[in-house]
Formats: sequence, C-alpha cells, structure tokens
Amino acid sequence: MRIHVPLLSVLSTVVLITAFLFGGDVTLYDLRVHAESTDTAVAISIHPTWLCWMDTHDLFRGGCYGNVMICDETLPTDVHKLRIVAHEARHLDQWEALGAWVWAAKYVLPLEPWFTDWSDPSVELAQMWDPPEEWENQWGFLRISIER
Ligand SMILES: [Zn+2]
Repeated sequence: MRIHVPLLSVLSTVVLITAFLFGGDVTLYDLRVHAESTDTAVAISIHPTWLCWMDTHDLFRGGCYGNVMICDETLPTDVHKLRIVAHEARHLDQWEALGAWVWAAKYVLPLEPWFTDWSDPSVELAQMWDPPEEWENQWGFLRISIER
C-alpha cells in the first residue's frame, strides 16, 4: 500500500489550521472520492474542500489556497456571502484542476473575473475559467494505491 500526500496538501492543511487558530469557523464544504482499478492496482483519491468563515478585518473578502476557501463573515448581506462562496468555490475547482500550476496559469487563463456583480454570481462565474469535464486534475489531496 502506498499513500501519497503532495506538498500542496501539506501547505493547504497549514493554511486551514492557521485559519482555525485565528478564529475561523471551519466546515467541510465538499468531499470528492474517486476510485480506479487496473489489472495491477487499485487507487483511491480523496479530495476534501473546506469553507472557513472568519472576520478578515477588511484585508480581503475572500481567498482560496489549495482546498481551503476563506470568506469574510462580516460581509453585509447573504447575497454578498453567497456570491463570495460561489467565487471562491470556482477557485477550489481551478486549484484541483491545475495544482501548483495555478500560479503560472493565472497569466494565460482567466482565473479571476474582470467584472463583479454583487447581486448576481453567475456574471463573474461566466468569466472565470471553469475546468472542462474531460480535464485531468493535476492535484488530489490524498491518494492511496494498493498493488494487487
Ligand atoms: Zn478570485
């Protein structure tokens, strides 16, 4: 049995723990589990994503690192909060699709929107790169493989 935890997973966990220690309200946002089997091995990929609400003291309204999104709990309305979660959740998808390549990809892919409509998240989601269905994700939080 082989357990593979990429460096990006370790760094994301540090971000998650740090946000929690600074008073963040952390909840599991999504859990993606994927299994695949070949003639010689069985592999299971586990990719949790986390939502952390915290008072960001106006430093930022939302941010995403790896599989952790941090959203400002002091946003004035539920509409604002839904919009920022939708925005950061798209970044979660981008991180899973690109892994550490996300830092380079921001120069060639529209990872961020160029216009924000606080009342309608679909406006900016249409502008942000959405990994296509056939895209092979470059990062998974944890992978367990078992030789047959
Ligand atoms: Zn963004």
